[in-house]
Amino acid sequence: MMYYHSTRGKAERLTAGAAILQGIAADGGLFVPESIPVVTAAELAELTRLPYQQRAEKILAKFLTDYSAEEIARCTQGAYNASGFDHPRIAPLQQIGKNTAVLELWHGPTSAFKDMALQLLPRLLSEAIRKNGETAEYVILVATSGDTGKAALEGFKDVDQTRIIVFYPDAGVSEIQRLQMVTQEGSNVAVLAVDGNFDDAQTGVKDIFNDSAFNERLQGAGFRLSSANSINWGRLVPQIVYYFSAYADLCGENTIKAGEEINFVVPTGNFGNILAGYYAKRMGLPVGKLICASNSNNVLTDFLQSGTYDRRRTFHKTMSPSMDILISSNLERLLYHITNGDTQRTAKWMKELQTTGHYTVDEEVRRDIQELFWADWADDEATLATIHEVYDKERYLADPHTAVAWQVNERYRAAHSEDRRTAVILSTASPFKFSDSVLLALEGKAPQGDGFTLLEALAAKTGWIIPKGLAGLRALPVLHKTGCAPVEMQDMVAHMLAGNCEY
Ligand SMILES: *Cc1c(COP(=O)(O)O)cnc(C)c1O
Repeated sequence: MMYYHSTRGKAERLTAGAAILQGIAADGGLFVPESIPVVTAAELAELTRLPYQQRAEKILAKFLTDYSAEEIARCTQGAYNASGFDHPRIAPLQQIGKNTAVLELWHGPTSAFKDMALQLLPRLLSEAIRKNGETAEYVILVATSGDTGKAALEGFKDVDQTRIIVFYPDAGVSEIQRLQMVTQEGSNVAVLAVDGNFDDAQTGVKDIFNDSAFNERLQGAGFRLSSANSINWGRLVPQIVYYFSAYADLCGENTIKAGEEINFVVPTGNFGNILAGYYAKRMGLPVGKLICASNSNNVLTDFLQSGTYDRRRTFHKTMSPSMDILISSNLERLLYHITNGDTQRTAKWMKELQTTGHYTVDEEVRRDIQELFWADWADDEATLATIHEVYDKERYLADPHTAVAWQVNERYRAAHSEDRRTAVILSTASPFKFSDSVLLALEGKAPQGDGFTLLEALAAKTGWIIPKGLAGLRALPVLHKTGCAPVEMQDMVAHMLAGNCEY
């Protein structure tokens, strides 16, 4: 049996299912597996012959040892299928030129890579509830700046013994993002506009989690609060799969030989996506460099280059908003593993980050990290130029997040011309999700019109097809019209769970 414990101490020891139910460890650390399982060359070769769902079964089984093969299969078949994904290969790899490929992670229901994890996590959670004999109903609270809220709603809608309540900042999301949420169907979903910004919504949710009297009251009524954010192990583990899947596809197409190393280039925010690549490498996947791409919020670039993490800097709003982050929570898991499980040092650095806003890792830790990772960043101007150039030269349409990664890969190649390994660039959002920026990049001037006009303009210009989840929005009725002030959020949760409010 594989057990999980905290990055900050080893007293707690849970199964995967229990760790997924709990979300965060009691000491504030993140759950990590006690050991990292291995995938043999023979197992890797076998993956080339399997569809995505079965690749997922094989990889997940290594970590979720308290789930039966049938339970895992039920989860992967339910998560990755034609009703949610508009591509039969789920995470298709597009070869571009001789030694570059793009791994498209945005074919799910909300057109962003969050779907890869959030289609699976609710199913893993639901199985865990059943297996652990939990009688409570799990209430997922989400504060969102846009993408996560919709992906979580789609993932949790109509999942047994769960409810989901999403708070979004009234003035802080794009028109399309708002429509994606307020038209959400499902018998267990609620969506509320908070009169404030993302920080207000986030603080409101944290306050609800931390109010022990309120939590006790809810437990008395048969509810337990839980979260779907990216520190949950159940969100990280599904992401390991597509690194293996990309490798299997490259082998299957004879682009690389079995055992040949490849690089991955990852547009990074909370460090969840790229950390999944680190686990894949530790499991035996032949990975050369993991290239970490940031936007102007380049705190990770500085850390990976210098060994000092310093969040005391200006926050920039960029055209790749899902990477506008100054505290990359999942880095904590890397620190734990890279120090061979030194919970004391990990806890010390996290404490320093919390109290002083910065920490510096030891020299040898920095060197170990730099063996594996390379990092750089691209600002909005470079992002626009890259979208333009990639479309011009390759007829490939990159969204701003993907373009940041593309640009950083160019810089890596310029700095390391000796590295001839194939690069896989992770593409994290459909270009249609950011039609305004993409049109600006292609045409050199700001496009005019509402969100739907821009979707159609981008389709007309490029011949690319608008994802059906976005195209269909215009026809859907608005189902969620309630708003509240930040101080009212807790009351709203109480009312909804008491059935006093239209749900
Ligand atoms: C969430 C997100 C990212 C960042 O991923 P992390 O796992 O937080 O590093 C990048 N691009 C898009 C489009 C995203 O939604």
